[in-house]
Amino acid sequence: MCGIVGYTGPKEAYPIVITGLKRLEYRGYDSTGVALLDNGLKVYKKKGRVSELEQTIFGKDLHSHCGIGHTRWATHGEPSDRNAHPHVSASGKLAMIHNGIIENYAQLKQELTNKGYTFTSETDTEVLLNFIEDIRENNQCDLEEAVRVALKRVTGAYVILLLDTDNPDTIIAARKGSPLVIGVGNGEHFLGSDASPMLEYTKDVVYVNDYELAIVKPDELILKNLGNEKITPFITKLDIELAAIEKGGYDHFMLKEIFEQPSTIHDCLRGRLDADAGTITMSGIQNNIEHFKEANRIIMVACGTSWHAALLAEYIIEELCRIPVEVEYASEFRYRNPVINKGDIIVAISQSGETADTLVAIERAKENGAIIFGIVNVVGSSIARISDGGAYTHAGPEIGVASTKAFTGQLAVLTMMALKIAKEKKTISEERYRKLLLELEAVPEKVDAILKNAGDVKKIAEKYKSAGDALFLGRGYNFPIALEGALKLKEISYIHAEGYPAAEMKHGPIALVDENLPVIFIATQDSYHEKIVSNIQEIKARKGKVIAVITEGDDIIPGMADDVFYVPPADEIIAPMLSTIPLQLLSYYVGIAKGVDVDKPRNLAKSVTVE
Ligand code: GLU
Repeated sequence: MCGIVGYTGPKEAYPIVITGLKRLEYRGYDSTGVALLDNGLKVYKKKGRVSELEQTIFGKDLHSHCGIGHTRWATHGEPSDRNAHPHVSASGKLAMIHNGIIENYAQLKQELTNKGYTFTSETDTEVLLNFIEDIRENNQCDLEEAVRVALKRVTGAYVILLLDTDNPDTIIAARKGSPLVIGVGNGEHFLGSDASPMLEYTKDVVYVNDYELAIVKPDELILKNLGNEKITPFITKLDIELAAIEKGGYDHFMLKEIFEQPSTIHDCLRGRLDADAGTITMSGIQNNIEHFKEANRIIMVACGTSWHAALLAEYIIEELCRIPVEVEYASEFRYRNPVINKGDIIVAISQSGETADTLVAIERAKENGAIIFGIVNVVGSSIARISDGGAYTHAGPEIGVASTKAFTGQLAVLTMMALKIAKEKKTISEERYRKLLLELEAVPEKVDAILKNAGDVKKIAEKYKSAGDALFLGRGYNFPIALEGALKLKEISYIHAEGYPAAEMKHGPIALVDENLPVIFIATQDSYHEKIVSNIQEIKARKGKVIAVITEGDDIIPGMADDVFYVPPADEIIAPMLSTIPLQLLSYYVGIAKGVDVDKPRNLAKSVTVE
C-alpha cells in the first residue's frame, strides 16, 4: 500500500514532500521517510507517523530542490526505523522508495549476498535497490538502463522512485501494479500515489501505466516502456479541489465523510437519474446494453466493503433483472480456476480502483475474453482504465480508512445499474420502476434526516463501548448491511464483531448470546419483518442486549429492544442505503469513546495495493 511523493523543480522540495505525505498517510502509517538531493543525499526516516518525523527533523538541513518521501505499510520486516524507506544503496549513491512487494526478493537477495552485499533492513525494497545498483556497476550503464534490466527480472508489484547523486535534479520512476501519478507544472514535476500532493500546484497530470518508466526532470518528463521506446505522456485535467481532501471543520475524515453522504449520493445520482422523465442515463451501461441484456451471468469481484456492496447488488439484480449473479472475493477468484463463459460479465468494484487483487482478477478474466465493467471512485484509476465500460461513484476523495461514503455511492450506482438493465430487459413493471426511481431520488434527503439524529447513536455507542463482542443480524437486503456493520465496528473500535443472516444465527452464533452480548438487528420494514421480529424474541429469551435499526412508525420492535434507532420508511431495495448510516455512526462513536485513531486504525491502510 504505502504513499509515495516526489518533487523536482525550483521550489524547496521538503515542504511539498512532507505535506504530500500527510495527505497520503491514509495509505499506510507504519513509518515515514524523506530523501533530499543537494550536494549528496540527506535521508531522514523514522518509525511512526509523518508528524513524528517532522518534529524529529525540525531544524535539520532540509534544503533541496529534488526529493522523495514515503509513508509505509509494512509487508517485509516489522515497522521500525531500519525498515523505513527511503533505502540507500551500498555505494551511498542511490536512494529509493517503493510501494508494493517484490515476490522473488529472496532469490535476488541470495544472489547479492553471494556477491558480498550486506543489508541493513529486512525489506524487499533494499534488495531491489542494490540489485539495480549492481547491474549499473557491472554493466557500466546509466541508471535508467539498470532499472529496465532489473525490472525485467522482478516479479511482483511496484512503484519505485529513485534519486541518484550523479543526476541531482532527476527522479527515475517505474510502475507495475501500484499507482503513480505525475503532475506537470511550469518547470517542475510532482509525483504521487494519487494526485493529492500536487493539487495546489497543478491540475495537469499523467497517469503512468504498468511497465512504464519515467525520467522526471524539472522541465522534462520522458516516458518509456521497458523496451526503451518513448511513449507520449497523456495529460489529463484533474477536477478535484484542495478543499475536498481537507477535514472541513470535522474532527475526523471518517465523520466528515459520513456527513457528506447526502451530497455524495446526490452527486452520484445527478445527471443520471431523472425520476420525472423516468430515465437513467449511464453511458457505460448503455454502451454495453446488449451484453447486459444477453448476459448469462454476472460475476461481481471485490474485496472488503466493496464485497458487501456486491452482495447487496446480487440480491437486487437477481430480483429486478433476473440475471444470475455470483459474488467473489477477488483474492480467491484470481487464484482458482473459475469457469468464465462467453456471455459472462465481470463487474469489478473498488473504491480506489487500485485494489491489487481485484485488478489482477479482472486482468485474468479479460485475457479469457470476459467483458469487464468497473465501478470505482477514483477517476483515472487502474481498474477504470482497463475496464470495457463502467460507472464512477463520484463520492469524492475518501480519506478515512474505513469506507463510508464510497459504500453508499457504490450502492447507488449498483441500484441504478440494476434498474436500467431491468427496464431494458423488461423484467420490471413500469409502476415498480417509476416508484424505485422516486425512492432513489429521495435517498439523500432521508440520509440527511438520519444524520440529524446522530446524537442518539452516540448515546447508544457510549452504553456499549466496553463490549468484547457484537453480533450483527439482518435478513434479505439487510443481510449485507449486517456484514458491513460488523466489519466497520471491527475496523474502527477493535471490538470483535460478526455479521450473520438473522435466521442462520441459530446454527451456531446463538451459543454466544448472554446478557453481555450486544446484538444489532437491522430490522427495517420489509417482506421479512415478521421473521426478524421472531429472531429478536429468540435473542431476548436468552437475555442478549438488542439494539435495532428500525423504520419510523414501527410499533412492535421498540417494545422488545433495549435500544432502537429509526430510519425513514423506504422500499426494501432502497432501505439498506439508509440502515447502513446508523451503523457507520455507531462504529465511529464507539471508536472515539475507546480512544481509537478512527481515521488510521491499527494495521489497516486505505488502498490495498498489495495482495
Ligand atoms: N514491501 C515494502 C516494505 O515492506 C513496501 C511496502 C509498502 O508498499 O509500503 O517495506
